[in-house]
Amino acid sequence: MKIFQEGDRVHLMDHKGRQYSLTLKPGETFQYSGEIIPHDELIGKSDGSLVSFSRGKAMLALYPTLSEYTLKMPRGAQVLYPKDLAIICMWADVYPGARVFEAGIGSGALTLALLRAVGERGQVVSYEIRDDFANIALKNIARYHGATPNFTLHKRDAYEGILEEGQEGQPWFDRVILDLPEPWRVVTHAATALRLGGMYLSFVPTIPQVMKTVEAIQDSGQFGESETFETLYRTWNIKGRSVRPDHRMIAHSGFITVARKVEKGMWNNHPLHSDPDLEKE
Ligand code: SAH
Repeated sequence: MKIFQEGDRVHLMDHKGRQYSLTLKPGETFQYSGEIIPHDELIGKSDGSLVSFSRGKAMLALYPTLSEYTLKMPRGAQVLYPKDLAIICMWADVYPGARVFEAGIGSGALTLALLRAVGERGQVVSYEIRDDFANIALKNIARYHGATPNFTLHKRDAYEGILEEGQEGQPWFDRVILDLPEPWRVVTHAATALRLGGMYLSFVPTIPQVMKTVEAIQDSGQFGESETFETLYRTWNIKGRSVRPDHRMIAHSGFITVARKVEKGMWNNHPLHSDPDLEKE
């Protein structure tokens, strides 16, 4: 059983599935629509308990899942949605023990997903240019994780280079994951920072950004064929005979491009690089 303790981040969920987050402190109360519940009533209860407010309103008390936590945590920059975080971890193949470079940190949602995927033996290094975002992200990460000795944040501009190196200047990173406006300006740095077989992934909201990024990947000659895709996550309403997609969805977040660092030579002037669509004309 997971039991709520002082200092824990807990979500209360109402009958419509709306969530409210609070950090448990003895002596404090949580207020909702004129009703209250003392934090002391939550401390000692199990994750998943039904709890009652002062005038009888019932809510569920839950430890937030990582996706619920990222959606409710304070934001500076727009966070990546859980649907994208999930697919990023799989498509960039972020594994326990991996060394991952990330820029920028934004509100820290991607960082949290990466820290979970690399585990205690892995390392995450983030670059961020804005102090205000960095501070929000650091608080969000600390509240979720406590101490994170395997995480380092630098106030650095990723367009200027990735400085970490292994022994004798060898590439140090297994994965480079970018969520910033001009990832094409990081592609050659990523090629230098990644070990052979390492993976590059970037997320951008528009197609002109994708085109510049893929062009930079192809021009570098250091990556295998890249793949670009988007994810559409559509939830369904299932009640009695009303079984249909929900009316609303987030129809657009962004495009993900993935490429693998490989030995030079294979892709330069390779027939696959000519444009079959243009040749037909
Ligand atoms: N993935 C983050 C959101 C990132 S928003 C999350 O899930 O919370 C994009 C971030 O990139 C912003 O914080 C912005 O300040 C930062 N940024 C923009 N250009 C940068 C650069 N050249 N180097 C490092 N960070 C940069």
